[in-house]
Amino acid sequence: MELIYRYDPYQPVVIQHPDTPEEAVTTLMSGNRRLVSMIDRMQKASLDGNGVGASEVIPVDLVSMGLPFIRGAALDQAPFALVLGCSDARVPIESVFDQSFNDLFAIRIAGNVLGTECIGSVDYAVRNFGKSLQAIVVVGHTGCGAVTAAVDTYLSPTAFTNIALTHPLRTLVDRIMIAVRAAANAFDRCFGHEFHKHPQYRAALIHAAVYLNAAIAAFDLQREARSAMAANVKAYYGVCDIGTMLVRDQPPLVPTSDPHLSLAPKDAASFMTLANEIVTAVVTLLDAEV
Ligand SMILES: [Zn+2]
Repeated sequence: MELIYRYDPYQPVVIQHPDTPEEAVTTLMSGNRRLVSMIDRMQKASLDGNGVGASEVIPVDLVSMGLPFIRGAALDQAPFALVLGCSDARVPIESVFDQSFNDLFAIRIAGNVLGTECIGSVDYAVRNFGKSLQAIVVVGHTGCGAVTAAVDTYLSPTAFTNIALTHPLRTLVDRIMIAVRAAANAFDRCFGHEFHKHPQYRAALIHAAVYLNAAIAAFDLQREARSAMAANVKAYYGVCDIGTMLVRDQPPLVPTSDPHLSLAPKDAASFMTLANEIVTAVVTLLDAEV
């Protein structure tokens, strides 16, 4: 199987720039679909040996890739989406959404939490890239180390005093703790306190908290962006499953290769409904494993 990046200098350049939040999100989801589909084809080619001789041509050109067309002529910065993601090396934002240079204003911090410095970056982007910026997105990921640390601190506070006594770690864990508590409360509401004894409770809590942490960050991000003069900006959230690289707003109950990003919950009641849906999905998947 050959992957060919082909530049044809005589091919007309088509620049597609999203003009609405919906178009921006569709562009991101299409990019994620391309990545997931490419991974799938390469895995099939390696495992089944049926990719021999197959090839795929990916047309490239400097302008649509967001790179300078003339040496030394820097382009104006014009991202169509602001994306807050985790620093985890397995989830580089541009690659997850198959986007190019100058497409995304990316903020990456462990646990994709919205700290003070991040808010400054959001404010800068919203004020300076208002013409091009159409959507803001938070993307968490499964198996997140920062969320895992928050869950372990929640479950055994005394065993993790090293986190409590380390200020930088504590600030990170404190921000994620809201999502962990929300997940734990939702498990209690939907499955009763007895569910704490389930052998997979810790794993379930981590899985649910990852989704809720992204949803909470999107809610906060939308509020911050709107206060920075962008009254109509919409924030979305999703979680990248590092086993498939597919981005979804909830754990998928059936195998799928369709990405999905959702709008941030609009208030406390919709957040609680979302928490119930996510823990129910997590437990359904646990039951399916048995
Ligand atoms: Zn992470």
